[in-house]
Amino acid sequence: MYKIFWEEMLAQIKKEISIEEFNMWFNPIKYVASEKEKLLLSVPSNFFKDQVKQRYLEKLENKLKEISGTQIEIVLTINKKEVPLSGSEEESAKKKVKKENKNHPTLRSDYTFYNFVIGSNNDFAANAAQAIAKNPGKAYNPFLIYGGVGLGKTHLLQAIGNEIYNSFDNKKIVFSTAEEFTNEFIESIKQKKPNTFKNKYRSVDVLLIDDIHFFQGKTETQEELFNTFNALHDSKKQMVFTCDRPPSELKNFTDRMRSRFNQGLIVDLRAPDFETRFAILKKKTESLKLDIDNKILELISKNITTNIRDLESALTKIIAYSELVKKKITIEIAQIQLSYLFADKSMGNLPVDTIIKTVAEYFNISSNDIKGKKRTKNIAFPRQIAMYIIRNLTELSTSEIGNEIGGRDHTTVIYAIQKVEDSIKFDPVIETVIQKIEANIREITGKS
Ligand code: ADP
Ligand code: MG
Repeated sequence: MYKIFWEEMLAQIKKEISIEEFNMWFNPIKYVASEKEKLLLSVPSNFFKDQVKQRYLEKLENKLKEISGTQIEIVLTINKKEVPLSGSEEESAKKKVKKENKNHPTLRSDYTFYNFVIGSNNDFAANAAQAIAKNPGKAYNPFLIYGGVGLGKTHLLQAIGNEIYNSFDNKKIVFSTAEEFTNEFIESIKQKKPNTFKNKYRSVDVLLIDDIHFFQGKTETQEELFNTFNALHDSKKQMVFTCDRPPSELKNFTDRMRSRFNQGLIVDLRAPDFETRFAILKKKTESLKLDIDNKILELISKNITTNIRDLESALTKIIAYSELVKKKITIEIAQIQLSYLFADKSMGNLPVDTIIKTVAEYFNISSNDIKGKKRTKNIAFPRQIAMYIIRNLTELSTSEIGNEIGGRDHTTVIYAIQKVEDSIKFDPVIETVIQKIEANIREITGKS
């Protein structure tokens, strides 16, 4: 009876997302049946089910409510015949029984320390996080994790929450994004119930707030955060925050709040190196019980260097493809399916190594000097120029640029670019130098 709603929903969604996304995630979903306030759909595998749930379920149910006028639950079942890759049902059932862990209502149950691969880019952060989870309120308080997108901030933050939730019996753990915190605060004022908000946040044992850069410029919310902070800090309650930059670089942020962060421990997450990228993919395929050739994981690890989110979506893409066409993934399939992701880096973009080499030659130093650690002025300045030009001529993010320049932090890159921009203002010759180098690069790469 709800079939007609399902069809209407598909028609609407088709207009909202790209055709590629639609084909990948919606074509394989089949209508099965309707029951009272339930719409049963089938999907090809466990993996698919998880992905659809994560990506679309909430949106689908909301839409269904809009279209039908009633709350209808969507139930996803697995179409058994079509499970070429995922582990057996029996196995996952066993796992469920074994894993009698309770789940926290607002933490993702897969964001655990167990699922977090430690590499040189994150070992300090991960170790500190574990120390905090063992000893909430006593190890480091507050703890602040910063880094670029997709590097594992949210995962680590929630892993702390999950660990405490599972190893302590009665700790009240609240996870909130800075945005939710802000909205809740505003709402509580509108409703004239400021105490509801205060009671909620000041009665916790562990407060986890994600993406606090969102508080920039929100003076009143910062004020409220400050008060919450003091109340919790005085009573030795653990606080953990994440941010996309070091607190010192937050704009429109009160100094007193910034200095509170400095009272605790601040650590950064950097982009993973090749080995860590590979280890992350390996772990992911193992936990999904997928048998994918190491060569394919190597191919992905080599080509996706930006961050872990991009790495995972490349993997997801080939798994989804192989489930659709019901073929085992070969290196050829992976190469073709992922070519557009890999191409992103170089198509329309100039090769970074050429840029670095041209800058180095201009200043009579070597590419290794640029990527290396020496800080003498005759090297540090060309290095900053190199970062500036890469930013100009490619679409690389600041984390990616940092990666290319000897694994530097994205904040270093931001600083370098700012520095060059400032010096151009003081000294117009620098601009001419940059133009000259850019012209050399274009000449070498044949792009104009
Ligand atoms: P951020 O919050 O920094 O943008 P996330 O925590 O959302 O990044 O991480 C992006 C994705 O990468 C998530 O799916 C997360 O589980 C995964 N991830 C990040 N770091 C690791 C890691 N060290 N090991 C395994 N998975 C990771
Ligand atoms: Mg995040």
